[in-house]
Formats: sequence, structure tokens, C-alpha cells
Amino acid sequence: MDTDKPEVARTGRSFDSAYSFSFSIAIGLLLFIAGLVISLTLGQGASIGLIFGIPLLIAGLVLPLFMMRGLFHHNVVSGECPYCSARITTSDATIRLNCPVCKHLLEVGELKIQPVGDSKRPEAIHE
Ligand SMILES: [Zn+2]
Repeated sequence: MDTDKPEVARTGRSFDSAYSFSFSIAIGLLLFIAGLVISLTLGQGASIGLIFGIPLLIAGLVLPLFMMRGLFHHNVVSGECPYCSARITTSDATIRLNCPVCKHLLEVGELKIQPVGDSKRPEAIHE
């Protein structure tokens, strides 16, 4: 009896992932520039600049990729089939799928599973 679990109010997630997407790029760029500056300014006299600068450069390149990979990995959509109430778990990359129980064609929308063609209802069209 877990049908009355309110799993709505999650529409702000796509904006949130877009925000952290640009945030990770900003951090990477900042680390990259810091590494460049340190290796240029300190690296003239000793090799200390390179010891600190090169790891920062690498971190600046790897960190955004690492964070972006986590973003794309976590979008798991789980819901119930609107026809037979079977539990379906799929990824956000899936656009359409067939229910494994009743074989109805389903659409993966904004982090929920809905019947195909339900979003455009004929009563909203006025000529
Ligand atoms: Zn079904």
C-alpha cells in the first residue's frame, strides 16, 4: 500500500542540474586559471610552481567532467504504469517504453511516467 505517496513537486530539478552544470564549469575554469597563474609566477625560480600548478590544471580539467558525469548518471525515473499500476523504473534518457506487464506504450515525462498523448488534450485546442 504505497500508492498514496505524493511524489509531485519536483519540477525544479532540471533547473537545479543546469545550475550545477555551469557551476562545475566555473570551478574547473577557476582551478585551471589558478594553476596557470601559479605555475607561471612561481615556476620561474623553482619547481614549486609546477608541483602546485600542474595538479591544479589537471583538477580544473577533471573536476567538471567528473561532476557532469554524476549529473547525467543520477536521473532515474520511477513510477507506476497508469494502466495497470505496475512499478516501472527507467532512466531519464528513455523517451518511450512499453510496460513490461500490460505492454501499453508509455511516455517518460518530467520525472514521471504517463500515457502517450496525454499531454496534448483536445479540449485545449481552439481554432
Ligand atoms: Zn502497465
